[in-house]
Formats: sequence, C-alpha cells, structure tokens
Amino acid sequence: MTFRTLDTADLAGKRALVRVDFNVPVDGGKITDDTRLRSALPTIAYLSKQGAKVVLLAHFDRPKGKVVPEMSLAFVAEPLSKLLQQPVAFASDCVGPAAAQVVNGLENGGVALLENVRFHAGEEKNDPEFAKALAANGDIYVNDAFSAAHRAHASTEGLAKLLPAYPGLAMQRELEALDAALGKPKKPVIGIVGGSKVSTKLDLLRNLVTKLDYLAIGGGMANTFLYAAKIDVGASLCETDMAETARQIIDLAGSAGCKILLPTDVVVAQEVKPGVASNVRNVYDVQPDDRILDAGPETVATLNATIDQCETLIWNGPLGVFEVPPFDKATVSTAKHVSERAKSGKLVAVAGGGDTVAALNHASVAADMTFVSTAGGAFLEWMEGKTLPGVAALEA
Ligand code: ADP
Ligand code: MG
Repeated sequence: MTFRTLDTADLAGKRALVRVDFNVPVDGGKITDDTRLRSALPTIAYLSKQGAKVVLLAHFDRPKGKVVPEMSLAFVAEPLSKLLQQPVAFASDCVGPAAAQVVNGLENGGVALLENVRFHAGEEKNDPEFAKALAANGDIYVNDAFSAAHRAHASTEGLAKLLPAYPGLAMQRELEALDAALGKPKKPVIGIVGGSKVSTKLDLLRNLVTKLDYLAIGGGMANTFLYAAKIDVGASLCETDMAETARQIIDLAGSAGCKILLPTDVVVAQEVKPGVASNVRNVYDVQPDDRILDAGPETVATLNATIDQCETLIWNGPLGVFEVPPFDKATVSTAKHVSERAKSGKLVAVAGGGDTVAALNHASVAADMTFVSTAGGAFLEWMEGKTLPGVAALEA
C-alpha cells in the first residue's frame, strides 16, 4: 500500500481534520493513563507548526449515537492543552454551527477539539451525510488513530473519501513497523503467540503460519496443542474441543513451511497463587493434578536460540501466567532476550496486545523493542491478515 505523507501536504492556513484516539482510561473524572494523548502530540504539533488549523475528532466510550453528558470529551481539552503547551478550544458538537463557530475562530496554528463523534448515530453507521457534515470543517483529513482503524466509521473511513487523506505521524510509524514485521519482513521471521486460549486466536494462527518461518506457541494455548499431540496436560487449562483445530493448524504450518515450536518442558503448580510451590517437568511427565502455568527453562533456551537465527520477530500473548510470579519467568526472560537483540540492531522486534504490552512493561523492556503496538483490536485484526478499513481508505 502507498500513502501520501504529511511532509508533502500544503498545510499553511488549511483546516486539518485529525482523527485521534482519546478514548483514555478514566477514574473519578481523572485520566489515569495519558499515553493516547501523548501519542497524538507529534502530529498535532507538526500540523500547528506548519500553520494548519488543527481540528481534532475523537470518540469516547460508547454513547451509542446519543448525547450522553457523562461521555463528553470536554474534560480532555485541559490536559491536552497542558501537554501541547498551547490553548485547545472545545466545541460542544462535532458538526453543525457549534463546531463551525469554533473552527472558524481558529488562527493558523490553533487547535480545537470537537465533541464525541459517537454522540451521532451516523458515526458508527458510516453515514455519508454525517461524513459530509464532518468534512465541512476541514480541507484535509489526517488519521492518527490506528487503534480505531479496524472500524469503518464516518470519522475513520468515510471522511477519507471526501478529503485529501493522510496518515498522521503515529499512524505512519505504526504502519511502517507492522510492514517491517509481517508485510515485507527480513527473513527468517519468527512469531511468538501465547495467551490463554486457542479459540480466541484461530484466525491469527492460521494467518501467521503462512507468513512465518517459525511459530513458537506458548501460554495456555500451548496446552491444547500438546493435548492434540496426545500429551497428557493434567489439570491445566486446555480446550479439548479445539484439538482437531490445533491439528489442522499444525498441518497448515507443515505445508506452508513454518516450523512450530511447542514447549518441551513446563512449570507446573497445584494452584495459581503468588509464590506457590512449583515444579519444572518434561511435558511427558505432567501429573494428573498439575496445572501448567509457564514454559520451562529448556523451552526458553530453545526459543531464544531460534530467535538468534532470525532477523524479525512478531509477538502476541505471554508465555505463562505472567501476572502471578514465579509464572512470569519464561515471558520475562524471553522479553529480555528479545529486547537485547533489538537494542543491538540484530532483530526487528514488534509486539502488541493488551496483556503483551503489560507483560513487556512488567519486564521493563517495552522501550527497547522496535515497536510496541497499543492498538489492541486493530493490532490483532492486522495480525489476522484482515484489511483495516481505516488504513485501506488512506491509500493514495
Ligand atoms: P493479549 O492481551 O496480549 O492478546 P491474551 O489475552 O491472549 O494476550 O493472553 C493473556 C492471558 O493469558 C494472561 O492473562 C495470562 O495469565 C494467560 N495465560 C498465559 N499462560 C497461561 C496458562 N498456562 N494457563 C492459563 N492462562 C495463561
Ligand atoms: Mg488480553
């Protein structure tokens, strides 16, 4: 895919409608994590510096097409203004006279935030009339919300058809990183997929085996693969009804030339409790009351040695119950190894997924990875090989 880039846009005096993701976590009216605001800053600052009038569009929560005062975006204007170190005007509607008045009042370089786009039913329906009403406040469209790009909504997709469309700087960086990991990766490329269940990651596994040279399977879902290979997993989490599907994925991998790595040893315990007594066992020695809660040291050593033969790595899903030490060990030591390789420039390492990001932060290595996606659903759909409507609409 090819995109226009913002550095080629004529911006001075232009109204840039910028879709951002300001769906921030909130507790008692206060933002508990402003990562999403911060990730939009480079694009906003760039546009402002180039003399554009920056008009921000965003959704917050799920008002389902109605005005829900508790879901107003007004509370974001002040923290955003502090981060940007410039005033942020707020309009009480994202379309119509209230929006036009605020936008028309902007000086070149000024910034305005418009009210929650999901207060209008036309947003999630991708209603062309609503998209037109949004477009009335812009000369160009910039999408900097990769995390909302799996939705074909008016502000994420419809608008891109009405105005010259550009990815924002964060979106551009994310697309480039994802392309380097799965689109046109340097080979060999290895994937690590973990997490609890096979059933939630079927499409992802099916897509990955056609693209990767190695796929390491860990976490609870590895139990299902072991079970499918007639290995007794005792009292572990295991989706017995997925055994046939697991075998199909193994077959698919075989015909696509993707080598699957399954755990050869595991860490077991009788319960999931911090500091509980645990044992390392060969996968063939798991006892009836054992619960597999992490990959063992031999498995990690094999995985790390395989990583050393690869140029590219893509990771979704922790290798064990990383929230409960000591079952964080395999995830943490692999994360440290991956980040060392990435830091020394020997590996392109891209990771994403809610718990995966938490696990990398727990291992204190998120900053050393090539790229960590916080996009959640959009990242997973991209790993499944799906076309993201918000990305496709930006194609030049
Ligand atoms: P992500 O959010 O990054 O996509 P998932 O939600 O798929 O990741 O998986 C994360 C969850 O998988 C964690 O809560 C972790 O505790 C769980 N998990 C990992 N290994 C096991 C295991 N052996 N048994 C049970 N749960 C596991
Ligand atoms: Mg999760």
